[in-house]
Amino acid sequence: MLFKDIPGLEETKAQLIKAVKNNHIAHAQLFLSKNGGANLPLALAYANYVNCEQPLENDACGSCVHAQKMKRSSTLTCILCIL
Ligand SMILES: [Zn+2]
Repeated sequence: MLFKDIPGLEETKAQLIKAVKNNHIAHAQLFLSKNGGANLPLALAYANYVNCEQPLENDACGSCVHAQKMKRSSTLTCILCIL
């Protein structure tokens, strides 16, 4: 999942990208939304961007080793708690 795949939420995406660029990454991040909201895709896009080896200006590359692992859901670097 990439930020570009999530429609809208431009301000939220910009804040997350800014945090990564400024190296202010929280050790844990909550993504809350109503049922059917974009919290899960946003969390996955953020995890992808944070761990990307060759990030683009405002998104993960989508092709590095980490991105491939994210696509296969075989990475341990992203822990999701769905409540
Ligand atoms: Zn990447």
